[in-house]
Amino acid sequence: MKNHFIFILVLSVLSFNCKEISNKKNTLETVFEMSNGKETATYDETILYYTTLAKKFKSINIDSYGETDSGLPLHLVTINSAGNFNFEEIRKSQRIVLINNGIHPGESDGIDATMMLFRDLANGTIEIPENTVIATIPIYNIGGSLNRNSTTRTNQNGPVSYGFRGNARNYDLNRDFIKADTKNARSFTEIFHKVKPDVFIDNHVSNGADYQYTLTHLFTQHNKLGGPLGKFVHDSVMPTLESKLRAKQWDITPYVNVFNRTPESGFSQFMDHPRYSTGYTTLFNTIGMMV
Ligand SMILES: [Zn+2]
Repeated sequence: MKNHFIFILVLSVLSFNCKEISNKKNTLETVFEMSNGKETATYDETILYYTTLAKKFKSINIDSYGETDSGLPLHLVTINSAGNFNFEEIRKSQRIVLINNGIHPGESDGIDATMMLFRDLANGTIEIPENTVIATIPIYNIGGSLNRNSTTRTNQNGPVSYGFRGNARNYDLNRDFIKADTKNARSFTEIFHKVKPDVFIDNHVSNGADYQYTLTHLFTQHNKLGGPLGKFVHDSVMPTLESKLRAKQWDITPYVNVFNRTPESGFSQFMDHPRYSTGYTTLFNTIGMMV
């Protein structure tokens, strides 16, 4: 009798767990959501999540490209309501946004947010845009992402564990877009020139600096883009983004560097030379923004 009781108890606990797991699978909750915002998805969890989305939704496709210094390829995940993933054809009638995540994997917010965005677009929680295709590199610095720790970003408020800034050979990938010493940079180039995005977004997190704003934007210098495109970024894209976020109580302000200086001496804006992601994409007339 006692054995039966234990058996039933174990069975009920197991079935409860299974039910809970299957519920979570059905709702496609991310690691970030399941941990109440305390954890970020690992590299394997991230790729598995997008693979699951691609199996479940016709609007999502996942591909792999080239190699990185970790030995693993980069992935490109694309969402298109029309279900077309041929970029040559796409750009004839649709505009393309490319989101890069995890260039510094410890700056994990974009990794988790983009997983949620793709799910919510695919399942209709957010209306999927007809004329815009969104593509993402889920984690650009794969080697750094695999090198998880809890101690290299002590100024930052979470997550519990996260990837390391340097890649598999300890390069800072956000200095390597022109020199391309890393296989990551060369594979990025392959993806970038295949996708040819109209807009490029590179997601970061400040290194624990105490900004009063949750969000800061670093648009590529509009003067560098020049002409009508530069004017469009400065006079239209930036103010529209700021006012739309303000309406949702998510104020955003330009990113500034404040190292070793008092505010009285003024703030200087960040100059994104082409060795940085958005500086590189500006060379090809893509509107670039770091967040
Ligand atoms: Zn960064």
